[in-house]
Amino acid sequence: MTATTSDIEKAAGVLRDGGLVALPTETVYGLGANAEDPVAVSRIFQAKGRPPNHPLIVHLGRAEQLDDWVEDVPATARLLARHFWPGPLTLVLRRGRRVPLEATGGLETVAVRVPDHPVALALLSAFGGGVTAPSANRFGSVSPTTAQHVRTELGDAVDFVLDGGPCDVGVESTIVDVSGGTPSILRPGGVTREALEEVLGHPLAVPATSSVRVPGQHPSHYAPRARVVLVEPEKVVVEAEQAQELGHRVGVLLPSSFGDAPVKAHAVVRLPGSAAAYARGLYGFLRELDEQGSDLIFASLPVEEGLGLAIANRLRRAAGPRPA
Ligand code: AMP
Ligand code: MG
Repeated sequence: MTATTSDIEKAAGVLRDGGLVALPTETVYGLGANAEDPVAVSRIFQAKGRPPNHPLIVHLGRAEQLDDWVEDVPATARLLARHFWPGPLTLVLRRGRRVPLEATGGLETVAVRVPDHPVALALLSAFGGGVTAPSANRFGSVSPTTAQHVRTELGDAVDFVLDGGPCDVGVESTIVDVSGGTPSILRPGGVTREALEEVLGHPLAVPATSSVRVPGQHPSHYAPRARVVLVEPEKVVVEAEQAQELGHRVGVLLPSSFGDAPVKAHAVVRLPGSAAAYARGLYGFLRELDEQGSDLIFASLPVEEGLGLAIANRLRRAAGPRPA
């Protein structure tokens, strides 16, 4: 059920007491702590099993709070904030003094955003300060897009779960580094590269690998239990059926171009045609194929434009090499 006013008050109290609150945002569910409480922030890393040098995102209730949390805001950052906040855009800027190094993984830059979700904004307003939060999943696994995903994955490691229904965007925020000279995309996400370029008036680079520490850019992140195999779109059915015949329990993310063609596989998710619906459903689909007991998941990359860029990025990471 969607969080009530008294749930919000309770959650704000948990944050004030140094606890962890799972909160809905328009992208995915976050695991939040008081950004100014280093002990509370370090509990996030324990709950996620995340290495402590991986930075988090500070969530603010209002764009006007930006200058309280970062130093030297360039005009580009203000322009992007004005256009895209509240929304799925994270800006990397120079760390302000009130941000503890625990929240930035020791970096002198800090990632900040204003989420576009009524429950997240109500919590941020009731709490008053900044809430630092990564996605509310175990490190490396698929991000949660419902409150139930959070409960299943983190259980008692989180003190309070605010339910805001299923997330609307479904993939994480776009991270843009505006801390140096030319802005660059560190992670594609809910705000498209095309929308950013239109506002900035120039093309943006999307580096394949980044020199800044972004866990989302490491191999095997956003990964389900089953191994993900990427194949050419037209070969998805043939390759999936071959693997199934060889004795695998094959799950398939079936491109919409196949219509309702029959597929001889263990579990099939028929993907929606629109990129927005695909992004919204992506992590839930991967969880579904896991839950149905697939050991291999066959998928193909969508065209890498619009939200397709973020979907392709997550699928590549999901298919990336696993730690031994
Ligand atoms: P998550 O939502 O779990 O992926 O965590 C937040 C994301 O923001 C991670 O991919 C972080 O690496 C990224 N991030 C946070 N702070 C910074 C920073 N200062 N520089 C680059 N990336 C950052
Ligand atoms: Mg994450």
